Amino acid sequence: MDRDRILLTPGPLTTTLRTKLVMLRDWGSWDADFNAVTARVRKSLLKVLHAEGTHVVVPLQGSGTFSVEAAVATLVPRDGHVLVLDNGAYCKRAAKLTQMMGRRCTVVSFDEAEPVSAQVLDHKLTADTTITHVLAIHCETGAGIWNPLQKVADVCAKHGKGLIVDAMSSFGALPIDARETRFDALIAASGKCLEGVPGMGFVFIRKAVLDTCAGNSQSLAMDLHDQHVYMEKTGQWRFTPPTHVLVALAEAIAQFEEEGGQSARLARYTRNYQALIDGMARLGFLPFLDPQVQAPIIVTFHAPGDTRYDFKTFYEAAKQRGFILYPGKLTQVETFRVGCIGAIGPNEIEQAVEAVAHALEDMGIASGEPAIKD
Ligand SMILES: *Cc1c(COP(=O)(O)O)cnc(C)c1O
Repeated sequence: MDRDRILLTPGPLTTTLRTKLVMLRDWGSWDADFNAVTARVRKSLLKVLHAEGTHVVVPLQGSGTFSVEAAVATLVPRDGHVLVLDNGAYCKRAAKLTQMMGRRCTVVSFDEAEPVSAQVLDHKLTADTTITHVLAIHCETGAGIWNPLQKVADVCAKHGKGLIVDAMSSFGALPIDARETRFDALIAASGKCLEGVPGMGFVFIRKAVLDTCAGNSQSLAMDLHDQHVYMEKTGQWRFTPPTHVLVALAEAIAQFEEEGGQSARLARYTRNYQALIDGMARLGFLPFLDPQVQAPIIVTFHAPGDTRYDFKTFYEAAKQRGFILYPGKLTQVETFRVGCIGAIGPNEIEQAVEAVAHALEDMGIASGEPAIKD
């Protein structure tokens, strides 16, 4: 089959033809034309967060995790102490990289079906004054939970602690306003809700803390302070930039703005989410999360209870029909995930539900109903 399959994953995502086509040209990394694209992208990114007055944005080569690692290394002094609010796989990854870089790290664990609690954070920060930074994930892509960013930020502000936010799977779709939500750093990437291709991340850093970041990083390539200083001085990336990824992101941002920005994107993803939930419910599937805490980004479904179910077979049957699903990432129950994000609308989601129905038929399964309903 020659047609691209629809990616129902949390990145890489399905992109538009317009975004793909701009990658057919070559760019010199030192050239003024390319530098102008970098400058334009940085300016647009700041606008999305309303952070033009308060923050800088520093792009970095690599996947999203590279930027999380770079943000922790750059923001947190070597003798700093990071508290990670953990309700899923991406939180655990953030805690692991913090520890591996030699920063003291305390993890506060929550149930993977519940949002993190600002009240618990408040108690922790009162009890342990050695904590210097809090690391929180806005949308925990593991289960798909929408964490209460504003409340977490308010508690951090009250205690005077630095807040580092992984907004990888929410930036551009869920509302975040830097004028109302106080954070020291916020991390996102090209290949998520902005609908670019993967290959670079970017970190918003509060101007007031930027100067204190010099010399924190134990890594040369991941030092965001150095990357920022060099970029401000020369207009260029410090080391070879992902040229095609950046021009694709510029084109994706142009379409993001034409669509109507963050609120329009959230509205489309919410329509996708609703079409998915409704369609899957008709097939008997049960979502893992309470709709109250679910972000319209990625949905975790319980696996069907039927003994003939097997994820690999299910995945292949959906793939044959043009749709790429995503495995579950929970520790206790068997699940799979379906993304609502990317350059797709409710039509594609309805077709995906149809493909899932046929996949069940292939396997001789009458209903998506799970074994145990909670
Ligand atoms: C996608 C994602 C990341 C980054 O993952 P990469 O595979 O490194 O791109 C980090 N945090 C969250 C919450 C994500 O959704």
